[in-house]
Amino acid sequence: MLFDEMGLAPEILRAVKEQGYDTPTPIQEQAIPVGLERRDVVGSAQTGTGKTAAFLLPILQRLKDGKNGTLRALVLVPTRELAEQVLVSARNYGKYTGVKAVAVYGGMAMQPQTKALKGGVDIVVATPGRFLDHMGRGNVDSSKLEVLVLDEADRMLDMGFAPDVNRILDSLPTERQTMFFSATISSDVDRLARHALQNHAAVEIGNRAESAEGIEHMLVAVDQADKRGALKKMLEEIPEGRTLVFMRTKHGVDKLAHHLHKEGMDAAAFHGGRTQQSRNKALDRFREGKVRLLIATDVAARGIDVDNIVMVVNYDVPKDPEVYVHRVGRTARAGAQGVALTLMSPGEWLLMRDIEKLMGRTFKREVMEGFEPSVAPVQPKEEDAKPKRKGPTMGPRRGRSKRR
Ligand code: AMP
Repeated sequence: MLFDEMGLAPEILRAVKEQGYDTPTPIQEQAIPVGLERRDVVGSAQTGTGKTAAFLLPILQRLKDGKNGTLRALVLVPTRELAEQVLVSARNYGKYTGVKAVAVYGGMAMQPQTKALKGGVDIVVATPGRFLDHMGRGNVDSSKLEVLVLDEADRMLDMGFAPDVNRILDSLPTERQTMFFSATISSDVDRLARHALQNHAAVEIGNRAESAEGIEHMLVAVDQADKRGALKKMLEEIPEGRTLVFMRTKHGVDKLAHHLHKEGMDAAAFHGGRTQQSRNKALDRFREGKVRLLIATDVAARGIDVDNIVMVVNYDVPKDPEVYVHRVGRTARAGAQGVALTLMSPGEWLLMRDIEKLMGRTFKREVMEGFEPSVAPVQPKEEDAKPKRKGPTMGPRRGRSKRR
């Protein structure tokens, strides 16, 4: 993929080219299309990944028309250094768009910043405390804000900006696009993200799935009809912690939740067939630990951003191998350990082989006592999962996942 192919306006492309860039970085390849669609983004991205352009280019594209001198995009950053860097980037990438950007941060006199703000701006890059100061003095009007970026959210929290950021969030229009970036996603960062995103579904980008090295993959061969029983037994064996169960269909989700409920195991069902309110409630109960199990379809689960998931269950083997990587990436986050349990019926053997090829490794076929499948599973050879020909592999590290 090239910048040329991303649907960016010519005046933006020209500026990007002047910087000497033709090829987007992975984070840009993922975030720019989503940003251009005006959807919310949560990204785990570190400095040096090109995340600044990842959020600035969609902002510039959105702002270049209809400039009216009121604040339309706010980028909150933890430090004055970062504020300056983002400002320089915004001016570089935006130089042919006419979009005006200013930076305001602490440790500098208010007066020049006030003058700049009052002179009419489209993008403000700010540290939270100073932005609040200006807001309090009526120097900025954020009532027309369309895009909010929180950059290096984990550092903002480390620096004690949580109360300021939360106050700012509460004062901004709720109808807006939010892009949230953080190098690490701790539970505090997660909480801030939820506040910033107002629990809207966001597209997750970054290398969560890749970095989850603490995942133990368990593959259990079982007949389709025995999956419920096998799952129940596993849940009893892994006694504590949040478990996310993935299923292909909404109907399956409801049926399984109902069945487990009857068996005395409370589970929240989460899928697109439910109302937003019902989904929010399910997610809240899961986050707050009131219910240990969340059963979800892939589509619905896209916006779920919950820490401390100890086990991800593939109740069915996904048809698209990349979905496996996304699903299991929900556990073992931030260096923690997690289990990815896959229940594989004889009809799903081939789908599992596709996943193993994608990942470049095989998983040991296990059988659970009392739930032995009618057809004994065949253990593939390790080399069968390795690519036969030379050339780039499609392993998860280099895969073309649209969303990670
Ligand atoms: P950032 O992670 O946004 O701080 O960017 C890290 C560095 O990569 C900065 O010096 C950018 O100018 C540079 N950069 C951003 N996008 C690209 C790209 N597509 N190709 C090459 N360099 C880039």
